[in-house]
Amino acid sequence: MLIEKYSLGIGDRYGHQGTAQLKALACAKEDGVSIVPVWNKSKREHSLIGSSPKDARREADNAVKELGWKDSYYIDADHIGIKTVDDFIQYCNFFTIDVADFIGEYPAEGIIKSFTDKAAHYKGEIKIPGIAKQFEITDNKINAVAKKYLVAIKEAARIYNYLVSIKGLDNFVTEVSLDENEQPQSPEELFFILLGLSAENIKIQTIAPKFTGRFNKSIDYVGNVNDFIREFEDDICVIKYAVKEFSLPSNLKLSIHSGSDKFSLYKPIHNILMKHDVGVHLKTAGTTWLEEVIGLAEAGGEGTKIAKYIYEQSFNRIDEMMNPYLTVLDIDFDKLPDPLDVYNWSGEKFANTLRHDQMNPAFNIHFRQLVHVGFKVAAEMGDRYTNGLIKYADIIAKNVTENLYSRHIKPLFLGK
Ligand SMILES: [Zn+2]
Repeated sequence: MLIEKYSLGIGDRYGHQGTAQLKALACAKEDGVSIVPVWNKSKREHSLIGSSPKDARREADNAVKELGWKDSYYIDADHIGIKTVDDFIQYCNFFTIDVADFIGEYPAEGIIKSFTDKAAHYKGEIKIPGIAKQFEITDNKINAVAKKYLVAIKEAARIYNYLVSIKGLDNFVTEVSLDENEQPQSPEELFFILLGLSAENIKIQTIAPKFTGRFNKSIDYVGNVNDFIREFEDDICVIKYAVKEFSLPSNLKLSIHSGSDKFSLYKPIHNILMKHDVGVHLKTAGTTWLEEVIGLAEAGGEGTKIAKYIYEQSFNRIDEMMNPYLTVLDIDFDKLPDPLDVYNWSGEKFANTLRHDQMNPAFNIHFRQLVHVGFKVAAEMGDRYTNGLIKYADIIAKNVTENLYSRHIKPLFLGK
């Protein structure tokens, strides 16, 4: 099983928008660009919402059937570890093996030696076509990388081998993710990480490093776009080189755990992908949930009431809502409107404040980030929330499709 050149991670918290999401990819196909969907959901999301990987599989199958989607599609066991993988195995065909927590753990001496012996082959200056600054590999660097990443690499191998033992070789797509870590990985570190993963015979098809800059939840990139792009392009050059040099799968590509909505990066990324003729996996998640709230707000009546209630509860319980996501949020409390004022807003004003349209003067990134993490409130509402999704399905679906197609797919995959 080899994942295609372009793929889009489309998390869907409540499992109602699969068809609306897939429609956006069908539109892209009509435009001549083939992108395959990957429905990603982590253990954390499943447990906060009360859903299971079986539900994610059912949703994907139904959406594919409903739209007559003929291309591949994937269900991603997102950010799994050895303790959480079991629930996903039967229902998923894409596994994001998250080993970020093992970075920096000190490996045993014997393990270090076998890695450093291999890496020593690359000592001196290595010539990687296309990168901005050639790597100067020294013993010190090799040792430092071994001490920082070897335990994580070994853990990835442990989970990968476990998956192979159950699903069989080549019956699933393997991603290794390092992004949930405070330190970005440099292209040089990526070079050694790929060397380590290939030495473990992991057939890795996508890799998610932590990139430079801030990838806050559901708002634009915060950081220097040029620095990001230089790093991104160097990473691509490293991957091209590593595929040949380390005999990794030829479709190996970068995976960007975007936290959704990194609009200022999309066109520059598109240009780099075209320049090097390579693929990418872009993972989004909360952006669809926010479109649900936007659709509800626009719907009027009970829909608008639900949207306002979600904001009020998120505001009143802000510490609790923010807590699992503190490293990927920048909310200025003073910029949040008082829920009592929000109760007097029109649904349209609520939608304009939440929708990620940077040109709209009503748009408020603090409001948006808070609602992003407030999905737990909707889970607690139970039927009241899901009945709202059913009652206002049309207006929500329109927002979900339009958001993915116009704001994500168009700039990133079509360069428009
Ligand atoms: Zn991630």
